[in-house]
Amino acid sequence: MNQPSIKTIKILFAKSGNQCAFPGCKDSIVEDSGTVTGHICHIRARNANGPRYDSKVTVKKSYEYDNLILLCSRHHQIIDKNPLEYRADVLIEMKKIHEEYNGRKELPEDGKFVKLLLNDFKRINITNNTGNIIINSPNAIQTNNLNIKSIKENINILPPPNSIGSDPLLKQRILTLYNKIGQEREKRFPDSGWQVLAKNFKSDFGIKNNKWTIIWTYPIACASSIIDYLEAKYANTIQGRKDKAWSKESYMPPRNILYAKESELLSQLGLTTKSNEVKDMIRNFFGAASHTQLSTNQHWQFVKYLEAFIKNKYD
Ligand SMILES: [Zn+2]
Repeated sequence: MNQPSIKTIKILFAKSGNQCAFPGCKDSIVEDSGTVTGHICHIRARNANGPRYDSKVTVKKSYEYDNLILLCSRHHQIIDKNPLEYRADVLIEMKKIHEEYNGRKELPEDGKFVKLLLNDFKRINITNNTGNIIINSPNAIQTNNLNIKSIKENINILPPPNSIGSDPLLKQRILTLYNKIGQEREKRFPDSGWQVLAKNFKSDFGIKNNKWTIIWTYPIACASSIIDYLEAKYANTIQGRKDKAWSKESYMPPRNILYAKESELLSQLGLTTKSNEVKDMIRNFFGAASHTQLSTNQHWQFVKYLEAFIKNKYD
């Protein structure tokens, strides 16, 4: 057996609610149209070169429910490229929490999606590190001897203690701000928006011969000046000016904007609107069982509360 059983994937798929298990990600694993956009990922690798290698994992175990997690392709890459941050125990916890909130019973129509997902998994299946490769595609390649030119290994360096990079929330806050500015710039200058942002950032912070992300190694004490700098840059973008209008007391945004803003703020805290913590807050603040019971005004107050909370956390 060098693939998970249909039964295993059926259970995994239903418990995932057809959604990527990465916190805050709402991407489907298989689209309604049948396009496979997610992956069956191993939590622990059996191959010594794989991420999260564990010598105790047998072939059989490696394809069992406990060792598999469904993620969108983007988050699959992210976890595999950062195995120190996304250790096996982190992924197990991530999967458990996700299943608690998104899991559902198996449905008859799942069968079709599960087959597509498994076919995708089998399409490229490197069975061991001696070069056995089977590509199950219309023009199938099957061989025992295929030399793949070695790929440059990813080297992961742990952020130094008390650096910005060692605080995931702080890092996320800076990255979110930076990306918001980049996206706004890109709208106006599609070719150069991101480049100019990085160039200016580096020159304003005296960074030479390094990417701007070298700031992850800077001490946490530097974070507030970086955040102030980025916030000022953002305030100058078109969206930034709109946001300023938004923060005026008299402005009451429509409900869909409130939901979007709430999700964005919660994602900075590693939460989603479905998180238990959020349900608890809504119950404690307003005595409401869910978002749908909130008036627009209450929802607005809640979003303002989150905004202030995140601001106070690091200012
Ligand atoms: Zn995802």
